[in-house]
Amino acid sequence: MNRAIKYRLYPNKEQAILIDKTIGCARKVYNLMLNDKVEYYKANKAMLNNSPAQYKKDYPFLKEVDSLALANASQNLNKAYKSFFKNKNIGFPKFKSKKRSRLSYTTNNQKGSIRINGSKIKIPKLGFVRASIHRKAKKDWLLKSATISKDSCGKYYISVLYEFEYKINYIDISNTDELNIIGLDYKSNGLYMDSDGNKAFGSNKFFRQYEKRLAKAQKKLKNKNVGSKNCYKQILKINKIHNKIKNKRLDYLRKLSTKIVNLYDVVCIENLNIKALSNKGFGNGKATLDNGYGMFTTMLEYKLNERGKYFIKIDKWYPSSQICSNCGNKQKITLDQRAYICPKCGKIIDRDYNAAINIKNEGIRLIKSIN
Ligand SMILES: [Zn+2]
Repeated sequence: MNRAIKYRLYPNKEQAILIDKTIGCARKVYNLMLNDKVEYYKANKAMLNNSPAQYKKDYPFLKEVDSLALANASQNLNKAYKSFFKNKNIGFPKFKSKKRSRLSYTTNNQKGSIRINGSKIKIPKLGFVRASIHRKAKKDWLLKSATISKDSCGKYYISVLYEFEYKINYIDISNTDELNIIGLDYKSNGLYMDSDGNKAFGSNKFFRQYEKRLAKAQKKLKNKNVGSKNCYKQILKINKIHNKIKNKRLDYLRKLSTKIVNLYDVVCIENLNIKALSNKGFGNGKATLDNGYGMFTTMLEYKLNERGKYFIKIDKWYPSSQICSNCGNKQKITLDQRAYICPKCGKIIDRDYNAAINIKNEGIRLIKSIN
């Protein structure tokens, strides 16, 4: 099992320069190798195997940085490149740009070349870098690698990756009556409705909270001279707001998913294609895009798995909104009908609440079918 812990880094001036340089070199190698691969493919319609070492003669500055950073950049490229050969629809890997791409590089631990010592982290080529160590790995965790990054506000971070043995004790699901099971129905204007009738708001709420401040800051930027110091400062301000929104969203989704996996043994959801939903203008495309449901279900899945609990995805064709959760009657119901009114048993129930109960029942049926 793998686990990453992220720490804020406080490099001194020289260290910061070397980090920036290493990030730049990793990007350079990636782009050089990609360019040659593209040219070779155009000419020969075949895969080119190249390595960072080939470029060190023409670009001697590549020798000055951590060679593992270059090796990892090349490995990432090869991975993306191979998947292109497997599936041509995904297209060639894209070139990395200083502006658009994430500013980071990855290096590996070799016999303690990366290690935490008090309030410092030893990193290859950089030596000991001051860091805020808010959490420590357990004694039996193996430090595998680290990714050093710089965010849009100029702050440095390190994400340390550990590997450890972990035995999962799966809970007993032979008697569904003894399990705490919940069904979640996706809501585009919110996050979900659960089978107990509770609604969760979407993480886009945080974007809305800062929307005005963001618009104001962006308007101010228009009045600054491009390239001026004030322009740069204003961009930093905007990035800070974006980061704040991002962190609040993540924090909310993390807490909510932890709460659910602690309370329930089995979580059932519909297997939706979130991208397709937001593209098809599901009534509220903007909300769908940033309500965080995709991220939320990913968190649920791994947290449940870690605890030996179950995450059940119901087939996307399962008609959760058409079935009466009370008597099983099935009828067509249109998107604008907010209530399910059953002509057979007379049940009147909120549309999403009804769907969530059906999702839960379908999950129970699936568990019983495995048992
Ligand atoms: Zn009914």
